[in-house]
Amino acid sequence: MFDIGIIGAGPGGYSAAIRAAQKGLSVVLFEKEYIGGTCLNKGCIPTKTILHSCKVLSELKNADKFGIKAENISFDFEKIQERQKTVSEKIRKSLTNLIKSYGIVIVEDKADIENEHVIKTSTDKYEVKNIIIAVGSEPNKINFKGIYNEDFLLTSDDILNLNQLPNNVLIVGSGAIGLEWARILSALGVKITIIEMMDKIIPNADFEVSQRAERLLKKSRIDFYTSTTIEEIQNKSIILSNGKVVEADNILVAAGRKPVKDLNPSLENLNKDNIYIIGDATGQSMLAHSATKQAEDVIEHIINGTALKFDKNLVPSVIYGHPEIAQIGKTEQELQKEGINYKKSFFPVSALGKAWAEDKTEGFIKILATDKEILGAHIISEEASAMIEQIAIAMTNKLAPKNIQDVIFAHPTYSEGVLESFLALDNLAINIPQK
Ligand SMILES: Cc1cc2nc3c(=O)[nH]c(=O)nc-3n(C[C@H](O)[C@H](O)[C@H](O)COP(=O)(O)OP(=O)(O)OC[C@H]3O[C@@H](n4cnc5c(N)ncnc54)[C@H](O)[C@@H]3O)c2cc1C
Repeated sequence: MFDIGIIGAGPGGYSAAIRAAQKGLSVVLFEKEYIGGTCLNKGCIPTKTILHSCKVLSELKNADKFGIKAENISFDFEKIQERQKTVSEKIRKSLTNLIKSYGIVIVEDKADIENEHVIKTSTDKYEVKNIIIAVGSEPNKINFKGIYNEDFLLTSDDILNLNQLPNNVLIVGSGAIGLEWARILSALGVKITIIEMMDKIIPNADFEVSQRAERLLKKSRIDFYTSTTIEEIQNKSIILSNGKVVEADNILVAAGRKPVKDLNPSLENLNKDNIYIIGDATGQSMLAHSATKQAEDVIEHIINGTALKFDKNLVPSVIYGHPEIAQIGKTEQELQKEGINYKKSFFPVSALGKAWAEDKTEGFIKILATDKEILGAHIISEEASAMIEQIAIAMTNKLAPKNIQDVIFAHPTYSEGVLESFLALDNLAINIPQK
């Protein structure tokens, strides 16, 4: 009998497996498709690999500004796709070796729960003391009214397998996945239109982030319509609820994801004392690092009985591309809605020397806090993904703004903006003019 049987080897499943093995537990890990799950094979890593190609392309196109001659710049989409697959494949191999190095048994087959202590595959049954369900999520599908070929609709999975770029794409949804793909495809010359059913781009973001993101989209010549849905599709003509008609080669449906729920039998009739669900399968915080944190917490709980308390407020999230968009904690509108008093700072990235050196002056750092507590941070900037982590460390450890104001930050860095934005809460930022 294994101490733990884990279904799904994405960031949730493999992290749980490794942490359990580190603590001396025996583990069997089931995966029906790819080790590394959505993140490594269809999500985080492939998209960031392609985004890097877009970055190289954009830097070369702008090289002249930096005194560099680069002529006849072009790209090979098939090669970009090939690289994305090779990168995932390489990581997958080393991840598989990493998991095996801990003595974890990997079973590459679809798993089902037979009962509280038995997991079965197509050929075998495995007895386990505890079960962790880490089966992930899948793209939401939408049935549109009208006449269209099924191939006309793409998910973020399908796009990774395209060999040829479409000329025009309409993207449904302006969350992280929709926006990242809009940035990728637009950088590669595809005409993009985004529609968002809510009244602003990146509906979950702070309103000032959404406003700036809308400005950035306009600058990149990406069309977008908020408070808009699809009324009907007539072959390649898409009729929108605002009366506009968009012609597109494809629609990318990036309208959220839903937990995978195909485990058989349903868990309803089982005693659930030893069954845990983590990661995207919970439907709570669909991010790789949330899955990893929940994995670590569940193993600690199984071993020591520690309480399971996942705090969504402490999860940083990032929309990649240039500039990056990152947030943690509450938005200003949430604080207002909840009647919480707060101070606010707004520090422009254009006040940073490093940003001028690299010609990346777009963006801002916005901090929401009281004298005692950091309530939220919202960043649009180059390296926002690294800066938000500094604030995550502070918030997780319940530091007050004063604790950050006292830290020495290296110059020149984008991170200096973090220091300055905390100083700005008390009108003490060195690089902001007197009001
Ligand atoms: C386009 C895109 C970009 C993304 N970018 C980011 C990003 O930049 N940063 C970030 O944090 N998150 C990102 N995400 C989200 C991230 O991929 C997920 O949050 C993360 O993968 C969730 O991990 P998980 O372990 O819960 O599930 P998954 O990674 O989905 O893993 C679940 C695994 O379970 C397997 N499985 C399912 N059912 C069974 C079964 N019955 N038997 C055996 N195996 C089974 C699946 O095959 C899968 O491999 C992105 C997602 C997408 C789609």
